[in-house]
Amino acid sequence: MKKLAVNICRLILAVTFILSGFVKAVDPLGTQYKIQDYLTAMGLSRYVPDFMTLSASVLLSATEFILGICLLFAIRRRLVSKMVLVILAAMTLLTLWLALADPIHDCGCFGDALVLTNWQTFWKNVVLLLLAIIVWRWPLEMQRLISEPNQWIVMNYSAVFILVIISGRSLYTLPQFDFRPYHIGTNLREGWQRMMDGEDSPYADFFIETSDDGEDITEQVLNDKGYTFLLISPHLEQADDSQLDELNQIYEYCLENAYPFYCLTASPARAINHWCDMTGAEYPFCQTDDITLKTIIRSNPGLILLKDGVIIRKWSHNALPDEQAFSGRLEDTELGQLPSDNVASKILWILTWFVLPLVLLTIADRLWAWSQWVRKRNKKYADKAKKAIKDNNPLNKENRIMRKKIVAGNWKMNMNLQDGIALAKELNETLKADKPNCGVVICTPFIHLASIAQFLDQDIIGLGAENCADKEKGAFTGEVSAEMVKSTGAQYVILGHSERREYYKETPEILKEKVLLAQKNDLKVIFCIGESLEEREAGKQNEVVKAELEGSVFNLSEEDFRKIVIAYEPIWAIGTGKTATAEQAEEIHAYIRSIIAEKYGQAVADDTTILYGGSCKASNAPELFAKPDIDGGLIGGASLKCADFKGIIDAWKK
Ligand code: PEP
Repeated sequence: MKKLAVNICRLILAVTFILSGFVKAVDPLGTQYKIQDYLTAMGLSRYVPDFMTLSASVLLSATEFILGICLLFAIRRRLVSKMVLVILAAMTLLTLWLALADPIHDCGCFGDALVLTNWQTFWKNVVLLLLAIIVWRWPLEMQRLISEPNQWIVMNYSAVFILVIISGRSLYTLPQFDFRPYHIGTNLREGWQRMMDGEDSPYADFFIETSDDGEDITEQVLNDKGYTFLLISPHLEQADDSQLDELNQIYEYCLENAYPFYCLTASPARAINHWCDMTGAEYPFCQTDDITLKTIIRSNPGLILLKDGVIIRKWSHNALPDEQAFSGRLEDTELGQLPSDNVASKILWILTWFVLPLVLLTIADRLWAWSQWVRKRNKKYADKAKKAIKDNNPLNKENRIMRKKIVAGNWKMNMNLQDGIALAKELNETLKADKPNCGVVICTPFIHLASIAQFLDQDIIGLGAENCADKEKGAFTGEVSAEMVKSTGAQYVILGHSERREYYKETPEILKEKVLLAQKNDLKVIFCIGESLEEREAGKQNEVVKAELEGSVFNLSEEDFRKIVIAYEPIWAIGTGKTATAEQAEEIHAYIRSIIAEKYGQAVADDTTILYGGSCKASNAPELFAKPDIDGGLIGGASLKCADFKGIIDAWKK
């Protein structure tokens, strides 16, 4: 409702400003005369030179017109609504003064196009002021017709149109629309006759008296059945004398063809004589009221052609017809007839060259805005769809249902039995009190397993060995079989750790056997892979991890492979304090997942837990674990203290 009200107000104001600006711009001299009238009424006219009043006339009408266009298109809404409010407030005060004091009878707000009384003008301004207040109060409710990036085109186009095409052209030639009682087609004789009969008529001040003897020849001139040329110069002292030759030639043409030619002026005899001396003029001079002369034609001098008392042609001194136009009798030439370019054709011209381009621009802009809107909407839908896919994607961290998050400790060859039991107990109690958000496993030396298994709550903490034999049983002094590990109560076993590969020369074939035996004994394998520093520097990390997987676990059936947890541990990061960056780790985790997908299919890959290991600490775990392909960590050094290990486990809570 508020929006509707604001937009109705804005449209009424827009139309008013556009019309008012246009009718003033079309007659810059008329507007200048009105400004001079105001200055005279205020006693200021003598301080303001003509060029200033003319400039003010052009600028005032252009400002009004452009503000109207801005309101119509809702351009610069805040600024424009403020300017309109200020202008209307000032105009309301001015017209109140006019209505009360009546120093000027017609305020001139619509030029000569629409003449209102001073009180009518005042009340009109009061209404417009109320509308302007509404628009100023909620300027942003104005519905834009054109998007911001294209607004400058409308403003500049309108400015050029009103300043150059309308005001400039009207000044150089004559007003393109003539709202005065002396426009082309006016039957001066009839109008003047009505005035003589006592009727209300705008020709009350129209008279023609010869300069020599003051004889009134108005009737004689208007009653002439043929053609009469009237050269109009309100003040010969200020007349432009650049087209004297053309004027003298026209006068000679009139003499040859016996067409009456008079120069109507309000100048005194001295000025007439000076003009004759200067120009060689021989035509007769007549006296007429100067305001009437200024009203008849907006050019000094200007020429009008009467035919049978009707004004059929008007020319500014800048646009006099050339010699060829006066080659025969006027009766036989186009010049001697009423012109065919009537008001309708002028309106059509404006519609074609001003309104139509703006309408086309607006349509193009709206189509563009619409396509942008469609694009945005489609993008929104696409984003939503993407999000939905992401939400349903098991790779998406938050939505992993199948893939288990694990933090596993690898005690290596640390802790005697008592220390180990103490640590395991502490951890057990801690995690019972503060349940982890992921699977937790501790992989201990063999000798700890059976003891720890006694008290460990294996629903919270899984227990695993760090190795097992590649043989089932028999004469392998010092070895511990998978079956033995299982018999302690452990569920996990780490296989393929780089330290075992390096120091105990465990080959892919040996590891393959170990994996098979571990699985045979129902142990879950945490299978380690990772490249050395040289291999990383040679950019061979992908090749290395792929070969390790192919060498030891890619022989498994899909069902068995699903039971494997992979631990990617770059050798250069293990126990060195140098962690792979989260990005580096994520990159190779994603690669590992992709080769699992190649081998076993995407679903298996999506379900495979891949841990990162290598100087993982509570401080860097959150960043690592935030990566979509990192599902937890295999922790060496930091698993030897309950608090450190717990800090890493808690990374899954962040
Ligand atoms: C490891 O030995 O598996 C390991 C990751 O060690 P650290 O965390 O000490 O680098």
